[in-house]
Amino acid sequence: MMKVIETPISPFLQNAPIAFCEETRESIFIDPGDEIERLIDASSSNFLKPKYICLTHGHIDHAGAALKLSKALNLPIIGPHFDDKFLLDTLEIQGTMYGIQAKVFSPSQWLKDNDSINFGNESLRVSHCPGHTPGHVIFINDKSKIIIAGDVIFQGSIGRTDLPLGNHQDLINSIKKHVLTLEDDYLIYSGHGNVTNIGHERSTNPFLVDA
Ligand SMILES: [Zn+2]
Ligand SMILES: [Zn+2]
Repeated sequence: MMKVIETPISPFLQNAPIAFCEETRESIFIDPGDEIERLIDASSSNFLKPKYICLTHGHIDHAGAALKLSKALNLPIIGPHFDDKFLLDTLEIQGTMYGIQAKVFSPSQWLKDNDSINFGNESLRVSHCPGHTPGHVIFINDKSKIIIAGDVIFQGSIGRTDLPLGNHQDLINSIKKHVLTLEDDYLIYSGHGNVTNIGHERSTNPFLVDA
């Protein structure tokens, strides 16, 4: 099965998840926004074997330390979708606004809808979910019923859409198409805040009541 370790990092308390295959300990870092020492510690204390760094979107609190981590552990960076290139290209500027030191980079691979990311005996399915940012992707493990949702959906809320190229209707459509079509017992690991599940959000999330 796939398991997830979450470490809250950066001034935004962003949950940087590490997803790993329980049998082989192969793992991926997701959204290393800051504080790579804590992420490397979490990885080594769980005896993990990191394979990739995967990004849900190009905001500083999710992508800010990807290049540093990639260089430290010699790992390729995968994602987000090409439509977030404008955000990765401005990481340094985003960083100076929030006190995070970041350098501009290009990932080894952009992601698109229905791609898959494989590690150990596990696989994550990629769904392109524009709205919070145009190139936002989420990662889904159907076997373990786990969604790594970035800033698409939170417990009781959804991603903000007042940032550059955000679009509220796109975000609602993405959630309807890629999240609410899954079964109620899928766990949602969000970019900020608590773990939740689809059933709970379907029935209580004020942004989704008429979705
Ligand atoms: Zn964001
Ligand atoms: Zn965020």
